[in-house]
Amino acid sequence: MTASIEQEHAMGRSVRQRPFRLTIIHPCVGRRRGMRRYIRTWCMEPIPAAMLAALTPKCVDTRFYDDRLEPIAFDEPTDLVAISIETYTARRAYQIASEYRQRGIPVVMGGFHATLCPDEVADYADAVVVGEAESTFAAVIDDFRHGTVQKIYRAARRATVDVAPDRTIFQGKRYLPIRLVEFARGCRFRCDFCAITSFYQAAHHHRAVDRVIEEIQRVRRRGQMIFFIDDNITSGTDEAKELMRALIPYRLRWVGQTAINVAHDDEMLTLMKQSGCQGVLIGIESLDQSSLQQMNKTFNLMRGGPPVALANLRRHGLSVYGTFMFGYDHDTPETIQRTVDFANDEGLFIAAFNHVTPFPGTPLYDRMRAERRLLYDAWWLDPQYRYNMIPFQPKTMSPDELAQQCLDARRSFYSWTSIARRGMAATNRRSPYVVWNYWAINALHHWDIEGRSGLPMGDEQWQGELLKA
Ligand code: SF4
Repeated sequence: MTASIEQEHAMGRSVRQRPFRLTIIHPCVGRRRGMRRYIRTWCMEPIPAAMLAALTPKCVDTRFYDDRLEPIAFDEPTDLVAISIETYTARRAYQIASEYRQRGIPVVMGGFHATLCPDEVADYADAVVVGEAESTFAAVIDDFRHGTVQKIYRAARRATVDVAPDRTIFQGKRYLPIRLVEFARGCRFRCDFCAITSFYQAAHHHRAVDRVIEEIQRVRRRGQMIFFIDDNITSGTDEAKELMRALIPYRLRWVGQTAINVAHDDEMLTLMKQSGCQGVLIGIESLDQSSLQQMNKTFNLMRGGPPVALANLRRHGLSVYGTFMFGYDHDTPETIQRTVDFANDEGLFIAAFNHVTPFPGTPLYDRMRAERRLLYDAWWLDPQYRYNMIPFQPKTMSPDELAQQCLDARRSFYSWTSIARRGMAATNRRSPYVVWNYWAINALHHWDIEGRSGLPMGDEQWQGELLKA
């Protein structure tokens, strides 16, 4: 039996002369040739990287590169590289892995995409962490250190979420001025397109409230907004209310992601407001009942649907970031235009108008594949595929027409005229602080629209073949 790294250090002996060196990388989605500045609205602190740093034994020499913000020093000596990947960052992650593996440095990958597509990821990595990394990552490092590596590390599905991210790795990097904190993971709903609910198998688990409060007190900066990155912060109603009550004395400003059912729970909305909630991201997705049926999201229509829900949120002084999805089988140019009008008329703080994305591992992906409507074997790896292209055959439009409709929706919603008009809504000018944020965030979205469209998957300048394991 081998001793763990911590045990070896405790015993005063070391397997190597020098500390084991780990390099953690956060990959970007892609980069155009000659691109100088990455999409600014995507530059939030990468919490998965900070979680890996927190799970790494303290005796390991850890460094971190954020591929969105800085060049990676591939020739810098290291013993292991760890990359957490999502479907959109998979191709870039494989490019980075190829660079290191050509130099003889092993690479371990985990994250959503590694869990939903472990066989594919195993082709490009020396080891794959499937599921949440809490229960496995220290063992992964130990095995690499002792040369006893396994190809797949399967985590217990329900990790105990009590590790706080190690944010020291963010020092010196220019992220958006918002602090990301996690209370809970997963969601109990089963929307057919949702990779999150596929990853957690429609389960939801949360951290102890006092640990979350302790972390917030430790990491908050004066006046800084807290973003609860939970997939659905109110998925566990009682737990969420417990958190809100505990937050009230701290006079925070926070935003988070939730589902529309919360807008019909008056006690929850009151507690959210009292605890400092400024606004929430809600997946409104569609105004069309048939589309909502297809995506298994008819709960969006409960008790009067989005108009009533949005009025309730406004009444409580909460802003809404509404997200919409186009390309389900009943969507037409007219339904898309109606949706943009709705978002404008409701005075949404901000909104996203995306095409339906068949993420591997979701019921939507399986359905589209069964119907032979996928246009690429694996759109996220295809060099021809670009961000915002439609990777499937829609029923009522051509792929190009759907892509154009989504782009037109964004351009229309983030036109200066629309921004000015929505800025007149009472919720968007309820305080000088809100007005300032409203204009700053809408301006950022206005400027980022064209930059995102057509972004390649991976770095366009990268030369060579992806190296298979
Ligand atoms: S409500 Fe949101 S997080 Fe929950 S399953 Fe649906 S899309 Fe996913």
